[in-house]
Amino acid sequence: MGHGIFGKLTGYVDEAGKGVPDQRSREHNFKIEYSDAIKSAEAVFFFQHPSLLSFQRAMQERKKRNNVETLFGVKEIPCDNEIRGLLDTIAPDVFGDIFMKSLKLADGEGVLEGYRVLDGGVLLALDGVWYHSSKHTHCKRCLHIEKGGETTYYHTGVVGTLVMPGNHAVLPEMPEMVSNGEGEGKQDCELQAGKRWLEKHGEEYQWLKPTLLGDDLYAHQPFCEQVLKAGYSFIFTCKDTSHAWLADTVKNSEVEE
Ligand SMILES: [Zn+2]
Repeated sequence: MGHGIFGKLTGYVDEAGKGVPDQRSREHNFKIEYSDAIKSAEAVFFFQHPSLLSFQRAMQERKKRNNVETLFGVKEIPCDNEIRGLLDTIAPDVFGDIFMKSLKLADGEGVLEGYRVLDGGVLLALDGVWYHSSKHTHCKRCLHIEKGGETTYYHTGVVGTLVMPGNHAVLPEMPEMVSNGEGEGKQDCELQAGKRWLEKHGEEYQWLKPTLLGDDLYAHQPFCEQVLKAGYSFIFTCKDTSHAWLADTVKNSEVEE
């Protein structure tokens, strides 16, 4: 296992992985441990492999294999299907604490100083990110859109990110998944997930004095009130088309000299 900051970060992932209950049925291959699958997935991102398959291919090379084993402390490197199969059974919230622990670690190292703006606060951007899209592969929780007689199934998450103008490095926070429930009815959406994100995480990020940044879809009174109630400020895009009265008022107002 690595040392220093990297060692601490992988340690957080390791800790979260240890709390995952083993849900495999008896016929499964128990040789692979959950923590090995989780740490291998972390390595996929760390080494920036474009896919699990490319990770799989890289692991055929002894040196790259050794890197994953030594840096991440993986005992038995799983194949891509094993990683996918095991990770699919884990609820995303299991990894929630890692984001806050990493943020506190970054703060302790003085990293957050570079993200302070607006009287010492931070800019926290909320945005939807697609992470699955297919015309064929789908599950019961998939969102879907119909276009030109075709259905596209997809998954998105609302991701909170600390950003700073001029700095390409962003600090990710715990996402809130946008996904449909078991039953029929109205589909889940980014705004609803944004509300849930604020309910779940609003308080724990208050110490950063965040200003939320968001698209036009967040610029509605109930959500803005929820943001203010959480002690945050906000800067949301207002499109002329969806905020006609506001656009008209601004256009027809004169600033007194
Ligand atoms: Zn799905």
